[in-house]
This record gives sequence, C-alpha cells and structure tokens, in this order.
Amino acid sequence: LSRTLALIKPDAMKANHKDEIISKIKENGFTIVQEQQLLLSKEKASMFYKEHDGKPFYQDLTNWMSSAPIYALILEKQDAIQSWRDLMGPTDSNKARDTEPNSIRALFGTDGSQNATHGSDSQTSADREIALIFGEESSV
Ligand code: ATP
Ligand code: MG
Repeated sequence: LSRTLALIKPDAMKANHKDEIISKIKENGFTIVQEQQLLLSKEKASMFYKEHDGKPFYQDLTNWMSSAPIYALILEKQDAIQSWRDLMGPTDSNKARDTEPNSIRALFGTDGSQNATHGSDSQTSADREIALIFGEESSV
C-alpha cells in the first residue's frame, strides 16, 4: 500500500462538490487516512507549488489556492499515486470532458486552471506535500 495527497480545490468546494468527490474516492477503494479542511496562506500555497515558480500561471494559481478553503486528504491504496491521478483525469477540465467524461476533473472542475482537485505526481512529491499540509509527524 502507498499514500498520496489529494486536495479538493476552491472551485469544487464553493460548488459544494466535496461530498460527491469523497464518495467517489471511497467507491474506488481508497482508505482516507487523515482529512482536514484548511485555508492555505499565500506563502504555503507558493511552497506547495514551488516547482511551477516562474511559470506564467504561478501567481494566479497560488493566489487562487489561498483565496478560499480547501479540503485535504491523505489517501491510501495499492498504487495510490497513479490510481488517484487516473480517477482525477486530465489536468484541464475542458479536455477531461472530451476524453475522460467520468473523471473527477471532467465532472467537477471548471477549466485548465481551476480543475477541482490535486494529486501528488510521485512518491517524493507525496511525501513532501503530506508533510507540508499535515505536518512532518504524519508522513510514513
Ligand atoms: P495537480 O498538480 O493539481 O494535480 P497536474 O499535476 O495535473 O495537476 P501540473 O502541471 O502539476 O498539473 O499543474 C499544477 C496545477 O497548476 C494544475 O492542476 C492547474 O491548477 C494549474 N495549471 C497547470 N497548467 C496550467 C496552465 N497552463 N494554465 C493555468 N493553470 C495551470
Ligand atoms: Mg502536479
């Protein structure tokens, strides 16, 4: 079993999709290890997305992610990182609606920037992101 970090982003929170997304997570065999609603500071959002520092969307992304509450979950499953990314679908919700219409980003996301959910992209990212959001003591 492995773990990944999932975030329900402000667009999906404001549209009241949190419970439907959590239902899909459970239906797909994930165990929720920890979960918490939180409001990221601009500084923490900037740290979270530091790999994108310098890209044209970085400021808008980190402003948006710190503008309203999000919901964070540590998910556990066999091959959790890839399994959660498969369930989310493509990054751009508009493309997701064309190619993976049942994916979470197709169903609940807005566009290429506001796309309902986040998922770690590697074991290294998952460890770093879980520690950043839930604290060092929660990492395995
Ligand atoms: P995430 O990291 O949120 O799971 P991802 O790994 O599919 O998504 P990344 O390339 O890591 O995508 O981008 C991180 C986030 O930055 C995206 O989820 C999206 O919110 C935003 N983003 C990515 N590319 C763009 C873009 N071209 N324009 C605007 N926002 C973008
Ligand atoms: Mg990413």
